[in-house]
Amino acid sequence: MKRVLITGGAGFIGSHLCQKLLNEGNEVLCLDNLFTGSKKNIELFLDNHRFEFIRHDVISPILLEVDQIYNLACPASPIHYQYNPVKTIKTSVMGTINMLGLAKRIRARMLQASTSEVYGDPQVHPQREDYWGNVNPIGPRSCYDEGKRVGETLCMDYYRQNQVDIAICRIFNTYGPRMAWNDGRVVSNFIVQAITGQDITLYGDGSQTRSFCYVDDLVRGFCALMDKKGFTGPVNLGNPQEITVLELAERVIQMTKSSSKIIRKPLPADDPTRRKPDITIAKTELNWEPEISLEEGLGRTIENFQQRLKDEQ
Ligand code: NAD
Ligand code: UDP
Repeated sequence: MKRVLITGGAGFIGSHLCQKLLNEGNEVLCLDNLFTGSKKNIELFLDNHRFEFIRHDVISPILLEVDQIYNLACPASPIHYQYNPVKTIKTSVMGTINMLGLAKRIRARMLQASTSEVYGDPQVHPQREDYWGNVNPIGPRSCYDEGKRVGETLCMDYYRQNQVDIAICRIFNTYGPRMAWNDGRVVSNFIVQAITGQDITLYGDGSQTRSFCYVDDLVRGFCALMDKKGFTGPVNLGNPQEITVLELAERVIQMTKSSSKIIRKPLPADDPTRRKPDITIAKTELNWEPEISLEEGLGRTIENFQQRLKDEQ
């Protein structure tokens, strides 16, 4: 049994990670300021004596005694991270410094939730970890992309300078049950729109691609990476099955048997045109690859959103 700190633990991915680590018998400290996360996401665990919730902002230092840290605190959806961009970059930079400082002091291994956005609008396809990226440093997405890039730099500097045991994980688009209803990301938007009969909002012509990973696959990868002590990465975790956003819209409509129509909205600034992970390192170093197809994962996610809609009525 380990004592594990999860920052951002009340968010979408964090709550699935809490669940997995509790199921495996660990003690979980979930730290969150509830900006995009919610108590509802963790209400299932509140009675578990091995679970503790700490309402705290990672921008302020905190002293805790744990064996491992998963640093996930940061809004992930463009509408949320652009709502207060200065706060977003503070969360990535000061939050990561605080967690690395804690990891150094208590000698804990720390996994940093980085992102495929460090590749920006990539000129190399699929994206391998040795690609340095094509990121706009002054655009509306920069508070997130550059914040996460600095997060990686900080991890490597604490590793080289202070021998902190870190692991950098570059997460590609992940989806699944418990995504916030108003999350604003494409999978949740399309499902909510389809099951409530609203128009499906396609940004641009829908020819941009993404590669969607089911959340259970991702958190399995997180744990495999955490267990590989001394391995820093960075390592891509994502599903290499690439799909255009238009195809995704059509698939969601068909799977929900919805009568919603697809309407066009302007493509947001700096929206990456394609994205697909090369997962060779994850396969060879972690023996990890996704197991859940988009068809199956979307089915489970749609079911979860339909249930939540019923519960609210
Ligand atoms: P989410 O928005 O559901 O979760 C983020 C959590 O962090 C929320 O619970 C939020 O309240 C909390 N948080 C935000 N700022 C905080 C602060 N200053 N102090 C304390 N808590 C704070 O998003 P998610 O999809 O679960 O993403 C989790 C992590 O994974 C993020 O770091 C994100 O950048 C990264 N990531 C996610 C994806 C994806 O597709 N879901 C892709 C790449 C990277
Ligand atoms: N997108 C869309 N309609 C929506 C939300 C998003 O067409 O209602 C597009 C968006 O422009 C992008 C892709 O879907 O090309 C993925 O967007 P998301 O915000 O989920 O993630 P990210 O751009 O960070 O990969």
